[in-house]
Order: sequence, then structure tokens, then C-alpha cells
Amino acid sequence: MPTLGTTPQLLRAADAAHIAQAVGECLFVPLSSSNPSVSPVSREGAMPNYTYVIVGGGMTAAAAVAGIREVDGDGSIGIIAAEPHPPYDRPPLSKALWKDKPLASIWRKVDGKGVTLHQGRTARAMDLRSKQVTDDQGTAYIFGKLLLATGCTPRRLPFGDDQIIYFRTVDDYERLRGLTEHGDRFAVIGGGFIGSEVAAALAMNGKRVTLIFPDQAIGSRMYPPELATFLNAFYRGKGVEVLPGTSVTGCESRNGKAVLKVRDVATKREREIIADGVVAGIGVQPNVELAQAAQLTVDNGIRVNASLCTNHPDVYAAGDVASIHDPTLNQWRRVEHEDNANSMGGHAGVAMAGRMVSYDHLPFFYSDLFEMGYEAVGEVDSHLEMVVDWKNPCKEGVVYYLRDRRVRGVLLWNVYGLVDGGRRLIASADSFSPSDLKGRLPL
Ligand SMILES: Cc1cc2nc3c(=O)[nH]c(=O)nc-3n(C[C@H](O)[C@H](O)[C@H](O)COP(=O)(O)OP(=O)(O)OC[C@H]3O[C@@H](n4cnc5c(N)ncnc54)[C@H](O)[C@@H]3O)c2cc1C
Repeated sequence: MPTLGTTPQLLRAADAAHIAQAVGECLFVPLSSSNPSVSPVSREGAMPNYTYVIVGGGMTAAAAVAGIREVDGDGSIGIIAAEPHPPYDRPPLSKALWKDKPLASIWRKVDGKGVTLHQGRTARAMDLRSKQVTDDQGTAYIFGKLLLATGCTPRRLPFGDDQIIYFRTVDDYERLRGLTEHGDRFAVIGGGFIGSEVAAALAMNGKRVTLIFPDQAIGSRMYPPELATFLNAFYRGKGVEVLPGTSVTGCESRNGKAVLKVRDVATKREREIIADGVVAGIGVQPNVELAQAAQLTVDNGIRVNASLCTNHPDVYAAGDVASIHDPTLNQWRRVEHEDNANSMGGHAGVAMAGRMVSYDHLPFFYSDLFEMGYEAVGEVDSHLEMVVDWKNPCKEGVVYYLRDRRVRGVLLWNVYGLVDGGRRLIASADSFSPSDLKGRLPL
């Protein structure tokens, strides 16, 4: 059995370090000027031919390289990566980098042990009969095994192209950071995962932030109403202007500032918000175009079996883009979180290198909001029945999510070290009533 992903809590820091060591030397084509730790090696002219080709250069790709090397020390690995950077951790972009962490800490060290990184290149077509991928510059890559780790792309609004930062990449982070050097007022569109984190990060850096979203409260698609409502007040207490029940209907540039038109959903009244920078976090969609064009099975993500293989025996998919049947929850799922990228990517690498894999990991996820934070596992969805067990109301406690008296998800609010306990409850065949759950996980 592969060892990757077996201790999810440790993956936040330890897996990155493990992968960093496991991967080793890397040839970069071409060089990113923003990462000083690598040197350029030109391979132009030759038709690249690799035992393993990975499309996408994110966290899943970095984990897959480690997985491959766990089994196969020699097979050549080529990564085709659209971003002009080596793989890096995305979670710090909206958290640690706004506190005390340096930018240098995010890079997943994929140098050593013969990985060639074709960065700044986008794979545009696949021919599965001749086992080739062609990029946007016309280079064709021959593969033995292929991993699609193309992740997700942010949803966009139909206006404000030049003004709105759809926060996903290190370049987005650097652009926003640059704006904060001179700007004071920021607007954040979206009260979900990314919006709530970026609003907190900006406010913690002394910026005046307006948070705009159509729901009634921050994170209301995940949290029970009392917690979501508490968060509106909590953010306001931190100086954030919170505008629930509002949507942005336009964005223009005026005197070097962004001017947003913000409409109250109930009254339809509009007002303008002027900002030095605008960030949007309004959801993402999986990058499935390549798979679709090659007639791989796609249904809210690229479908894979427990070996992380698509319906083509030499093509695998993992991370944000992959949809897998989760045996614990007994449903098809596509998970957009770090533990999933690390664990699924690692297992995909192991599987591609020829070792049997039966992937059944139930990933956890986490977030930080000012000094608050949580870990969560399973289906954390406020449409389910919710049972709250507070040690300190809205400050510390557990929320259980149930369907038909079975636990589907667990939110550990400012409580740590209980993810495995949550997993056991979700895996349990027992029926639970709300009173059974109070105190079930020790607080
Ligand atoms: C700001 C931010 C904060 C986050 N914080 C957390 C957190 O706190 N906790 C948590 O659990 N998760 C968090 N996440 C989610 C986590 O980062 C993602 O789940 C993870 O990055 C997914 O990795 P991936 O490699 O599958 O996809 P991605 O990270 O999307 O990487 C895919 C890469 O493939 C490239 N690509 C796409 N198509 C092509 C193509 N055709 N050719 C070549 N390259 C291509 C893309 O440019 C991209 O670089 C956060 C995400 C963001 C953006």
C-alpha cells in the first residue's frame, strides 16, 4: 500500500516537506524568473518522450511526482504547466503570506531525480491512440502514462476584466499585494471560502474592506445559521463592511480606481463602491476540456475509478479536476481541497508507476478567518440537518451534518486533532439522534 496520504493532518506541513525531498532534481523549460532556486535547461528541438507526463503543475502534480518516485526511481517525468512557475502551495496565498510567512516558503521543491518542467505551456490536445499531448506552442509530448491534474479555473463576472482579481494563483497574490502597497480600500466579492479568507487577510493588514455577497451571512452554505450570523458580526467587529444580500452588477474604472455597482437583492437599490482593488471568489469550475475532447468520461470532473484511472487505461486524473466514487459517503465527489490534492495526487503517481492502489481516503479541509479556524471532513453543507455542540457558542465546538440519521460531515470549529474521530463517525453504520451526538467528539 502506498504510504502517501495516510495521516492527513500531517500533510499540511509534513507532506510538502516529504514531497520536496522525494522529488529531487528537475529540468525547467523555460525558467520562471520568480523562482530563483532553479536553473534553465533548454530541450527545444527534441520531441519530448516521457514514461510519465503530467498535465498541470499544481499541488496534485507535485504529489504525483513523489508518488511515482516512491515506486519507480528512474522513469522519466515531464510536467506541462500553464503557469510560469514551478508547483507551489496555494493555501498560503490567502492566509500565511499575509501573516509572517515569506513567499519563498510556498514552492514545492520539484528539483532532483529527473523531472522536466515545461512551464508556461498549456496542453491543448490529446491523441490517445498515438499517446501524445500537444501544447499551445505546437510541441508534442509522447507519454507512457498520463496524469490529468489540470485543477480548476475561477468563475468570472461578465464585466470588470481588467479590475477584478479572480484569486487563484501566485501571480494573483502578487498583484493584490502590489495594490496594497499604495491602496487603502478593497472590495471582496463572494462570502464563501476564498472571499472570507481574503477579506480577513486584507483587514489584518490594515485595509478597509467591503465584503459583498448575495447570501444572508458569511459561509452560510456551510455553517449553521447561528454561526454564519455570528461571523457577519465578527467581521464587522474587525472593521470589515459586510454587505449580505447584495450582488455586483457592474464594474468600471474611474480616475485609477475601480467603481463597483452593488445592488441590494431585496430592494433592488444600487450604490457605488470605490476601491483601490477588487478581489472575487465566486467559485471555480474544473478544467475538463482536454478530457472531454478526447472522449474521456466527464461528469462534474473527470471520472476515475479506485485506481484513479479514467476510462482509458493509460490516462489518470487526480486533484480538483477528478471525480471519484467515495466509498464512505457512497457518492461521486469532486473535492477542491489541499488534502485531496496531496493524497489523490500521491496515490495516482503510485498507481501510474504500476503498484495496485485502491483509493478510499476521505479528505479533510481547513480554513483560517482572522484568529478563528476550523478543520472539516465529509459533506459540510448547510442543507443537511445540523447538530451543534458548542463548548463556547460560535467560538469553539463541533457541528455534525446528518442525512437520514447518518453522519455525513463534521465541522471542527476552533477545535483540532479530531479529524480522524470525525471520519470514524462518518464511516459508522450507526443511526444517530441529535442527543447521541452531543459530546460524541470530546471537546
Ligand atoms: C487562494 C487559495 C487558498 C486555498 N486554501 C485552501 C485551504 O486553506 N485548505 C484547503 O484544503 N484547500 C485550499 N485551497 C484549495 C487547494 O489549493 C486546491 O484544492 C489545490 O490547489 C488543487 O490542486 P490541483 O493541483 O488539483 O489544481 P490546481 O491548483 O488548480 O492546479 C492545476 C494547475 O494546472 C494548470 N493547468 C490547467 N490546465 C492546463 C493545461 N491544459 N495545460 C497545462 N497546465 C494546465 C493550471 O494553470 C494550474 O496551475 C485553496 C485554494 C486557493 C486558490
